[in-house]
Amino acid sequence: MKRIYDVAVIGAGIVGTAIARRLSRYQLSILILEEGIDVAMGATKANSAIVHGGYAEPASTLKGRLCIAGRRAFAELDQELNFGFRQTGSLVVTAEDDPAPLYRLLKQGRQNGLDDLRIVDQAELRELEPKLNRELKWGLLCEGAGVCSPYEMAIAMAENAIANGAELKLESAVKAVRGSRGSFTIDTARESFQARYVINAAGVKSDLVAQMAGIDDFAILPRSGQYLLFARGTGKAVNHVIFGLPTEKGKGILITSTLYDNLLIGPDASDQADREDTSTDLHRMAKIYDACKELYDGLDPRQFIRSFTGVRACSSTDDFIIEESRVPGFINAAGIQSPGLTASPAIACMVEDILAKSGLVLEADPDFNPHREPIIKSRELRPLSEIKPLLDIPSAPEKIICRCEQVTEGEIIDAAGRGIPVNTIDGIKRRTRASMGWCQGTFCRPRIAEVMDRISEHPFDARFDIEHSGVSRVEKSELLDFLNSRAKE
Ligand SMILES: Cc1cc2nc3c(=O)[nH]c(=O)nc-3n(C[C@H](O)[C@H](O)[C@H](O)COP(=O)(O)OP(=O)(O)OC[C@H]3O[C@@H](n4cnc5c(N)ncnc54)[C@H](O)[C@@H]3O)c2cc1C
Repeated sequence: MKRIYDVAVIGAGIVGTAIARRLSRYQLSILILEEGIDVAMGATKANSAIVHGGYAEPASTLKGRLCIAGRRAFAELDQELNFGFRQTGSLVVTAEDDPAPLYRLLKQGRQNGLDDLRIVDQAELRELEPKLNRELKWGLLCEGAGVCSPYEMAIAMAENAIANGAELKLESAVKAVRGSRGSFTIDTARESFQARYVINAAGVKSDLVAQMAGIDDFAILPRSGQYLLFARGTGKAVNHVIFGLPTEKGKGILITSTLYDNLLIGPDASDQADREDTSTDLHRMAKIYDACKELYDGLDPRQFIRSFTGVRACSSTDDFIIEESRVPGFINAAGIQSPGLTASPAIACMVEDILAKSGLVLEADPDFNPHREPIIKSRELRPLSEIKPLLDIPSAPEKIICRCEQVTEGEIIDAAGRGIPVNTIDGIKRRTRASMGWCQGTFCRPRIAEVMDRISEHPFDARFDIEHSGVSRVEKSELLDFLNSRAKE
């Protein structure tokens, strides 16, 4: 007889994986269905990676309330799952004489219940951020904000959910959903599944998945944001996440260090019809670059290594949609735009409550293990003299496969053996950072492929890389040529 899962989660971004991991503490059978070749292939892999403070949205919105609750869960979650979180604090800065917009954010944050917000004057701003432009006059400091590694977080959530009994099916795009609480049938191209409850966590396609179940009361209005990423080490220029003033389309342009000390600038915001277009555009890049120069003049375009785009799942309600829909047992976790990453732990708890209210029995699993070991053991790079002798040794766990990011063969093997099939270099990259460095994989791609060919149980396609599969991205030479020619005009 076919298995009936208690809960089927559609979508393995940070929202779907956080929900699955939350539910895996109970005696439940959980199925995660993901269209992509890996987890975290949607907005979760292409965003600013900021754990937001919680002052930017009012507490009258779900976005506002869940942001704060989610942010407060990060430190403990990171201790359990080791995905990487650093509490850096954030600063909204302005060069205007009048700090009124900052006071408005301060007021909203305090109304939301935050107690770690304050206005800083020019002297303190210079002390906190000595490299920012000296014309900046005021800042709003939020001490609890930080940065994390969003795709590592989703991978960690998924790995831990699987270790606690959840099943994940990749390359399983849901095509149809029929039924109601207690007896849903979910069709993918390959297989059909049965579940008592269905959670829709399909990101930018969550309206399409809702429509499959007969729910058409919201739409997703995709809005893209582009970024420029700079070489490792450049992020040390800033100590906090630095935001310009918010715009009507969002929190505005930011400058931050990633968890691995790369400077990241962006995102802009542009409504677009295509939900899946993640190409980057030279003119948009240049605008972001110019806007960031207003905050930090030390940007060096020669250190630029990569551009990317994320697509926000803005909803027609302009808020998160987290509710049991009018189809009993079909629960939407939809329209999760920013600050969805920050809010994800709280979204998972909210979905858990909705399920309980809808009649799902949540009995604690005494064997639940909340812990997951990290793949990347150290975020500090070693001196080159230590690395060089390990580059060309025969196969061994300590052999260095990726020179720029100092990734070992042992880490690659570990990453590939944690319950999620890893069939691409891209999948290894997001788990270990191999090929994320200065040379962007020129040196290590064949070396990764050699290891993967040797150890893979699944067919490994070394040529396939989602990042280079027809998506047009602005390259460094294009950006440099453009900026140079503009400077000569
Ligand atoms: C430019 C940008 C900047 C952002 N910055 C921040 C930030 O700094 N901090 C923050 O807190 N938030 C930020 N966010 C928001 C955050 O990234 C998102 O809210 C979060 O990643 C959404 O996660 P998700 O799981 O809902 O969606 P996704 O990560 O998109 O996951 C949805 C998954 O569903 C799958 N799927 C879709 N259709 C189907 C189907 N039919 N069958 C099976 N699977 C399907 C997709 O393949 C995908 O893997 C930003 C977003 C963007 C785009």
